[in-house]
Amino acid sequence: MKIIIHGGFFSESNTNYEVKVAKQQALTDIVKQGYEYLRTHTALETVTYTTSLLEDCDLFNAGTGSQIQSDGKIRLSASLMDGVTSKFSGVINIEDVKNPILIAQKLMGYDDRVLSGNGAQVFARENGFDHYNPETPQRRQEYEQKLHDSIRLGTVGCVALDAQGNLAAATSTGGKGFEIPGRVSDSATVAGNYANGFAGISCTGVGEDIVSGAIAAKIVTRVTDGMKLQLAVEKTLTEVQPFDGFVGIIGLTANGEVYHADTHPYMVWACYDEGVEVFS
Ligand code: ASP
Repeated sequence: MKIIIHGGFFSESNTNYEVKVAKQQALTDIVKQGYEYLRTHTALETVTYTTSLLEDCDLFNAGTGSQIQSDGKIRLSASLMDGVTSKFSGVINIEDVKNPILIAQKLMGYDDRVLSGNGAQVFARENGFDHYNPETPQRRQEYEQKLHDSIRLGTVGCVALDAQGNLAAATSTGGKGFEIPGRVSDSATVAGNYANGFAGISCTGVGEDIVSGAIAAKIVTRVTDGMKLQLAVEKTLTEVQPFDGFVGIIGLTANGEVYHADTHPYMVWACYDEGVEVFS
């Protein structure tokens, strides 16, 4: 059993050491809770649960504490992929919900598994997901000050390998902040989140770069075709160099390889590997 999570990029690290420490502590606590959960649950259940904990932590840009878009609204995107069934589900730009990953989980049981905008919200309400405003005073203050000059990415993600050897991946985001309404993040696409019977990957970074690099699906395909995870990640990252792609990756394979990488400092992540904690 293994679990790896990320909390996106930590671009405040040079200026706000306290926030960095708080994020690392939160990741450490959550990865332990995720691992405990994994002892008695499947990989799919565990990535969903663990991602919901990350969404509830307002330090990260997912669920509560998400970035505000250019029109003053928060829109959330999240996706889930089951390595056993190869089913992918997700919501894109949904408003006024607490845990988009739980709506993605609900969609797993439907033929129409990726919903966007108002349709996603109607589905959520019909399925008992109440109105919730994910905005925090901190994000509003940043928005009011128009702090969009530096990239502040704090998307969350989780990949788990369960006791049966099955993999799943989940990713959730509030987007990149100050985006044009309607912009689609990578997080609810197969570029940002992908898993099969061989590997699972969750990405963070600039969504447009992640989509251009087809990152998660490409890495999983390379591992499926026999490449080691580390090599598959590094090769895929070299392919985003020509356009200075801004990408962070966490991954696990069915035979127990664990790897993480980023193109720019610093993606924050944590891993519980057979009960041993590793984090940065
Ligand atoms: N990938 C996300 C997006 O572009 C942002 C992030 O990873 O923080 O919407």
